[in-house]
Amino acid sequence: MVRVIAVANQKGGVGKTTTTVNVAAALGELGQSVLVVDLDPQGNATQALGLGRMSSDVSIYDVLIDETPLDKAIVATRVKGVTCIPASVDLAGAEVELVAEEGREQRLKWAFDKADLPTGTVVLIDCPPSLGLLTVNALTAADELFVPIQAEFYALDGVGQLIRTMELVRSALNPMLEISMVALTMVGPPTLAQDQVFDEVQAFFAERLAPTSIPRDPAAHAAPASGNTVLSFAPDSSVATAYRQLAKELFAADLTPAIRASTNGDK
Ligand code: ADP
Ligand code: MG
Repeated sequence: MVRVIAVANQKGGVGKTTTTVNVAAALGELGQSVLVVDLDPQGNATQALGLGRMSSDVSIYDVLIDETPLDKAIVATRVKGVTCIPASVDLAGAEVELVAEEGREQRLKWAFDKADLPTGTVVLIDCPPSLGLLTVNALTAADELFVPIQAEFYALDGVGQLIRTMELVRSALNPMLEISMVALTMVGPPTLAQDQVFDEVQAFFAERLAPTSIPRDPAAHAAPASGNTVLSFAPDSSVATAYRQLAKELFAADLTPAIRASTNGDK
């Protein structure tokens, strides 16, 4: 059994990549086997995991466009328990190239269906900041949607659109898709405005909102440039501690057994 989680929010800069990479590292610390799929042409997750853009011959582009087997695109990282399918610059063209392909929304799902990942693997897909075909491929391949939301005044802007896209994918392609978790990111010192944001997000997502929020912390910003996760760059920072806690909550919120039981799936 494999648990596939799409980390998506079409707003840029809300903490998708930071959350993907550090939740992956924290799950790796807990002994899980984690695969990070970098589906953003900017390749930020690839870089944050210490992989240069040229560190691999194959990338997620080849899986989506050339039907390279997914297993063949997986590379090791120096983060314990974490492997990666890197992004490459040509992924920027994939959004357009996919339009002409057969099963353009399902290419990633098909690749997962054919892959032979170790049982218990957690897959985290770092989505680009759009609701185009790359994100749709992630939502179609995933069992769960994880939504990072930046704690700011317009926090819920665009969330309706994301949910509409999720509903479309559910009705046409992937009926089992569920939001498993929402996490507030870049939370600053408590203010009245911040409390309002928290209340709004809590009211909207109810129990899907993770108990742990991710604080704003310069360590989170500094880590990726050196090709490090925050967990290795600043292991005792507030943000590393929060990501460890969030990973435990995500682990506990595993919907997979329920999903599998209701579909008798054998993935
Ligand atoms: P996205 O993938 O949604 O575009 P990123 O994870 O790349 O967002 O984060 C956007 C920017 O904010 C990056 O420069 C990142 O380093 C920074 N950042 C993310 N999380 C935090 C945090 N908790 N504290 C401070 N800066 C952060
Ligand atoms: Mg990103």
